[in-house]
Amino acid sequence: MAAKRTKKFKTEVQQLLDLVIHSLYSKKEIFLRELISNASDAIDRLRFEALTDHSLKRGEGEYRIKISTDARAKTITISDNGIGMTADEVESNIGTIANSGTRNYLEQLKSGETANDAEFIGQFGVGFYSSFMVADLVTVLTRRAGDSHTAVRWTSKGDGNYTIEDAEREGNGTDITLHLRDDMHMFLEEWQIRQIVKDYSDYIAFPIVMDITRQKKSEIQDGEEVEVTEEETLNSMKAIWKKAKNEIGPDEHNEFYRHISHDYTDPLKVIHYIAEGATEFRALLYIPAQAPFDLFLPDSGKGVHLYVKNVFITDNCEDLLPRNLRFVRGVVDSSDLPLNVSREMLQDDAIIRRIRKNIVGKVLNTLVELKDGDFDTYLKFYAQFGSTLKEGFHFGAEKQEQLRELVLFHSSGEEDRPVSLREYVNRMPEAQKDIYYLTGENLDAVRQSPLLEVFRSKGYEVLFLVDVVDEWVVQALSEYDGKKLTAIHRGDLDLDSEDEKKERKEQREASRKDYKELLESLQKQLEAEVKEVRLSKRLTDSACCLVADKSGMDANMERIMRAMNQDVPVTKRILEVNPDHPVLKRMKDLLAANKDDPRLKDFADLLYGQALITEGSPVKDALRFTKLVSELMSSE
Ligand code: ADP
Repeated sequence: MAAKRTKKFKTEVQQLLDLVIHSLYSKKEIFLRELISNASDAIDRLRFEALTDHSLKRGEGEYRIKISTDARAKTITISDNGIGMTADEVESNIGTIANSGTRNYLEQLKSGETANDAEFIGQFGVGFYSSFMVADLVTVLTRRAGDSHTAVRWTSKGDGNYTIEDAEREGNGTDITLHLRDDMHMFLEEWQIRQIVKDYSDYIAFPIVMDITRQKKSEIQDGEEVEVTEEETLNSMKAIWKKAKNEIGPDEHNEFYRHISHDYTDPLKVIHYIAEGATEFRALLYIPAQAPFDLFLPDSGKGVHLYVKNVFITDNCEDLLPRNLRFVRGVVDSSDLPLNVSREMLQDDAIIRRIRKNIVGKVLNTLVELKDGDFDTYLKFYAQFGSTLKEGFHFGAEKQEQLRELVLFHSSGEEDRPVSLREYVNRMPEAQKDIYYLTGENLDAVRQSPLLEVFRSKGYEVLFLVDVVDEWVVQALSEYDGKKLTAIHRGDLDLDSEDEKKERKEQREASRKDYKELLESLQKQLEAEVKEVRLSKRLTDSACCLVADKSGMDANMERIMRAMNQDVPVTKRILEVNPDHPVLKRMKDLLAANKDDPRLKDFADLLYGQALITEGSPVKDALRFTKLVSELMSSE
């Protein structure tokens, strides 16, 4: 038998423990919810292993969680006959912080983003560690399911150290014993425990039992009062997704959501439904109000839990939802899948595919309804999960038609309120043919772009695509409602109607002739930088702008690729100049007077520098640029 070893907690665990212990948070009772939730997970995992390892199998009625108290020793014990833990598992599970919400909180605490507020910690599912809110000594006695495992005892006072040693335990499972602090003895009371279980853990699918001792009139001993101890089940055990919709109140949803998601905020939206017919299943899904911090990490979070005929199968069935809906939490319970289904079998299973089709449609429809019925709440959702949702365009997720209805973009139309494609199309002026957009690094940059000038003058709205994923959205979404999505920073854009073209024909031709020489000279001066210099049909006020070739890479994409450490070839863009701008007129005159005037090169560089700045790119030679500006400012 291994000797008793004393070890130290990892720093972040001790940090969390200190917070928990010194928490002034009033809801101390949540420790019981957390321990029951862990016990229920442990039984779920055993039941799942037993599906393939028959030696672990038990009668369905045997799984249970037991709460017992010892009034003299001042202890409360939560026992389960679940999967249990080996010594190694105890060390790695109890010595680390698995809960992403908690980890996130600690990070914020470290970086000073959150005040070290004892009240605040109470909002988290701090899991096992919440025991230390009420106990000054915690013992975990656990034995892993499977014959070869011995039991282990783990003990800690929450003071930085814990001990671990081999021990004896009959059968698999875990007993967590809390030695209650002096001011926490109320948790020994039967009515308190009953109330807490009812409030927080009623839906737990296994019986939560307790030995209840009552005075009863004895039948044998002539009506004399005797003490009788009987085991009572404290929870209704009704799986929440099996209840009728109107039977579940918001508090019950919130508690259940916490249990499965480990999130500490209430969900934004509940989707509860029963599919009948060819595919039968029940789904209880939640749209979270807040994105978990690991949403964009490759192996982020756990998705929807899959049950088969009420038996937990997995909390991470990736095939139930596409990646772009990975934020959805909840339960799907199918009666069509076989009980002995393995996780590998779930991949590419026809029933799973049908369920998936069904729930994807349902989730997207719910979001469309939310957008149309309660736009403010939808905006909250979109701020958290809009980018994730849009990833679906890139990898061709199903139900693109619904996805299209869900995207929102800021635009030149309204300052603060983003617009959907439907709304955009509905308010397009009659003469406008395409849907116009501009990509860029952020809203401030694109709002000031000279490329918008002609659109403003025509009263055409332009969508601002400033999210990194938007670049991939437009690659996949080439049109909406029969209207082409057209980049305003690309190609030779001409918005004039046939009549306008006719009207301006002479004027344009005259400009072309007038500016022929200047354009050629500019082209020569800027040969190394730009592909072409031409007269612009987009500008009304500014002197110049840069645009991408019809198929060439634009500035935004170049910036994104560089940020992703990709090798980007330098793509020359096109410099467009405005013939009506005084700067161009002056340059034309300088050229006409003396084609070797040295100022021509300086002005060409300045012009190009301005174009770079207004599109949000850095100037090539900032020193020379500022020197030229200073010279100009100090010249008469
Ligand atoms: P969380 O439940 O959020 O993962 P906890 O700190 O509550 O975090 O628990 C950490 C881990 O310890 C659990 O994920 C689980 O692996 C293990 N654990 C806790 N309680 C039990 C139990 N009763 N039986 C088996 N394993 C448990």
